[in-house]
Amino acid sequence: MNQMFGHKRNEVASYAAQYSKSFVERWDDLIDWDKRKAGENGFFEKLLKQHGVRSVIDVSTGSGFHAVQLKEAGFDVVATDGSSTMLTKARENFRQRGLQIESHYMDWQSLDPTVLGHFDAVVCLGSSLCHVFEAKARLTVLEKFRALLKPGGLLVVDQRNFFAIRAGNFKSSGNYYYCGKHASVSLGRVDQDLCEFIYSFDNEEQYRLQVYPLLPGELTTQVLESGFSAHESYGDFQRDYDMMDCDFVIHTALASTRKPR
Ligand code: SAH
Repeated sequence: MNQMFGHKRNEVASYAAQYSKSFVERWDDLIDWDKRKAGENGFFEKLLKQHGVRSVIDVSTGSGFHAVQLKEAGFDVVATDGSSTMLTKARENFRQRGLQIESHYMDWQSLDPTVLGHFDAVVCLGSSLCHVFEAKARLTVLEKFRALLKPGGLLVVDQRNFFAIRAGNFKSSGNYYYCGKHASVSLGRVDQDLCEFIYSFDNEEQYRLQVYPLLPGELTTQVLESGFSAHESYGDFQRDYDMMDCDFVIHTALASTRKPR
């Protein structure tokens, strides 16, 4: 199923294969929910409220962190992910917290508004879109996100700051996203085609994620090409930021009322 979003470098495993059961078991140690929540300080909840959002679909829910935060903040939430190990973990997290969150095991290419409905917001967080290597495939994914939105609906996509990473300035402060104290993140291969993150836990287990080093400017252009307007960006949750000195860049845009392409 991932082949459609495949890439030239056949040595890179599909995203679903990269999220192995044992890695996913460690995921919540990596992110440390309490610290991540404190680091975000309600940023996404505020952003969504400012835009009058009530319904939201989290299309890369992973272990369900944002689906849970948003549900607890009172939004109507649907969660999807194309990794069955991740989605199983998310469902476990929903159950543990006594939350009823509709969830679907779904690759982005299968996202279908006739099945899922239309939403006020689509969120794709935790640097997920960089799992798509090819520009054309990424555009198709963004159009799939667009199709899930009501006219004027809000898209929120974040990415690790590959501008700084490609310029040799990776620092991963540990204040946002991946906050766990038993985990550390370092870099393997980095070039214009591929970026490899090495996640080490207690200096024993090691997992590698290989993604496309998607530049903020590249993503901005593609968002605007796929039926969105009013693009804005934030660096580590600040509207005013230094591109060489932030871990994550968050992109927002509105579904245009005109038809894409
Ligand atoms: N949002 C979560 C998870 C981030 S990890 C968090 O912030 O913690 C990236 C997630 O994107 C993984 O769960 C992976 O399965 C999902 N993903 C990547 N490519 C996908 C695709 N083509 N379709 C559906 N999910 C995808």
